[in-house]
Amino acid sequence: MALIVQKFGGTSVADVNRIKAVAQRVKSEVDAGHQIAVVVSAMAGVTNQLVGYVDDISKLYDAREYDAVVASGEQVTSGLLALALQDIGVSARSWQGWQIPIHTNDVHAKARITGIDTDKIQARLQEGEVVVVPGFQGVAPDGRITTLGRGGSDTSAVALAAALKAHRCDIYTDVDGVYTCDPRIVTKARKLSKITYEEMLEMASQGAKVLQTRAVEMAMNHGVRTEVRSSFSAERGTLVVNEEEIVEKQVVSGIAYSRDEAKITLVRVADRPGVAASIFGPLAEASVNVDMIVQNVSADGKATDMTFTVTKSDLERTKSIIQSKKAEIGYEDLVAKDGVVKISIIGVGMRSHAGVAQTMFQTLADKGINIQVISTSEIKVSVLIAEEYTELAVRALHTAYGLDAA
Ligand code: ADP
Ligand code: ASP
Ligand code: MG
Repeated sequence: MALIVQKFGGTSVADVNRIKAVAQRVKSEVDAGHQIAVVVSAMAGVTNQLVGYVDDISKLYDAREYDAVVASGEQVTSGLLALALQDIGVSARSWQGWQIPIHTNDVHAKARITGIDTDKIQARLQEGEVVVVPGFQGVAPDGRITTLGRGGSDTSAVALAAALKAHRCDIYTDVDGVYTCDPRIVTKARKLSKITYEEMLEMASQGAKVLQTRAVEMAMNHGVRTEVRSSFSAERGTLVVNEEEIVEKQVVSGIAYSRDEAKITLVRVADRPGVAASIFGPLAEASVNVDMIVQNVSADGKATDMTFTVTKSDLERTKSIIQSKKAEIGYEDLVAKDGVVKISIIGVGMRSHAGVAQTMFQTLADKGINIQVISTSEIKVSVLIAEEYTELAVRALHTAYGLDAA
């Protein structure tokens, strides 16, 4: 008998029939004698719709109320799945984040889980009841509902698996595993049977939304055996594993892209000590993640242009913060641009190979694609380019690094 956490994403619970199908899948594990905790997302499209309502009312929304609204999608599917399970004779109960509770910090809209009290649900699991948990939501120290950032149900599932010391965490989604690149835009992408935690972490943080970044981080830190698989087939998916478990290390194992980037340039910032701190300090305080940064010294050496990227959802907030600090920072103009995409190549083998980045630059040059910003880490190279070249760039790189399926 094993304790298993199963997570079903939006498309897997997109309508009542799919929820019934999920119930059958859960039942088959229960019939095999396992204890099951299920984490569900909102029905496909629902969270986007809820975010849209919030945006329509207030662009610079109060994040507490945003959370009150967007957490509701998961509440609905958790109740419906509990009903669908009961209907086929499986004892089941839904538990909202605040009822368990799943504790988080108070960074609304991108809260981090700080702890999960498992006593109550543990007792129910031992009685053979299926525990159904809405993903994405938790409760802040002051008792208000929080959400974990887009894609956060993955993190709910892995965190629950870690807290319950589950034998495994199965992430059911609409693809049958992790591919060398998003199979929706690269038809030649190959399914990986295994991927290292580190590579998955980079893939996720660079835009491969098949798993949320924090979920991978948590799986890595707690050694949660995580598998990404399809809710529409019985096939094995992709296991996320330690590096030692991978025999043949690829130089580049995957390519990710993120259309979620916005580029901000501060024109003619004074070139003096402390200027970067005066820009990025207030952004950090407001929990805005700054990703790529480039700084150019002007010809006269007195001013610099500072370019950096943030997620599109943070753009309005970033602009308003930077504008409110204009006097302290001292810049001539703020130019904000979306219409950019970040493309990243990822692989642990990069550590021991030279010339990997050069292949990327040459491949893009051959296609006439201009690189606006570059950033690198030990196992990744990212470039920012114009969004219209996304497919062209990603497919060309996929071929250049020998990743195409035979
Ligand atoms: P869910 O609603 O189940 O959480 P998501 O839409 O969040 O599903 O994540 C699954 C999607 O991730 C897939 O439909 C696919 O388009 C996308 N994706 C991006 N990169 C990859 C990749 N490298 N491998 C597999 N899927 C990927
Ligand atoms: N429903 C939330 C979202 O769409 C959380 C999730 O599905 O993981 O971002
Ligand atoms: Mg997801």
